[in-house]
Amino acid sequence: MGLWRCQSPSCSEDLHGRLGFDFEADQPKCPKCARTNIPGRPERITKLAVIHYDPPTEEIVDGFKRGLNEWACQPGKTWKGGHATGDAIAVNCPACKKTEIWRKGMEAMGEAVTPPEADFALAVDPETKVIRLADTLGDRESCCG
Ligand SMILES: [Zn+2]
Ligand SMILES: [Zn+2]
Repeated sequence: MGLWRCQSPSCSEDLHGRLGFDFEADQPKCPKCARTNIPGRPERITKLAVIHYDPPTEEIVDGFKRGLNEWACQPGKTWKGGHATGDAIAVNCPACKKTEIWRKGMEAMGEAVTPPEADFALAVDPETKVIRLADTLGDRESCCG
């Protein structure tokens, strides 16, 4: 299983138009547009290095805040190689980003994270001006182009 980024602008879900749609898969095939890489042509699907969250502690060593030296997605397991950071914003590990400790790390950096129970799309009916869940009428696919 790897972490991949489809670089098609049409697959991006970023509200600010940033390029890329990240997904986990065994092969570099985008689940949205079904594109794969073509040998001899520039990559359309790029393999990403997985960056885990190493929650910072209050301990300062050589001027740096020491981390727990374990990944948020595998608590209690001592870190051995791989990429990890105490910068919650730089983390791209999907499993780390589901943890409460990562969400708290984001909050500590002034970044609000929507908790899963509040992560849903709303839609306004243009005629009635009534707000409802976008998913209930299948608007989610067509709402954002
Ligand atoms: Zn795609
Ligand atoms: Zn992780």
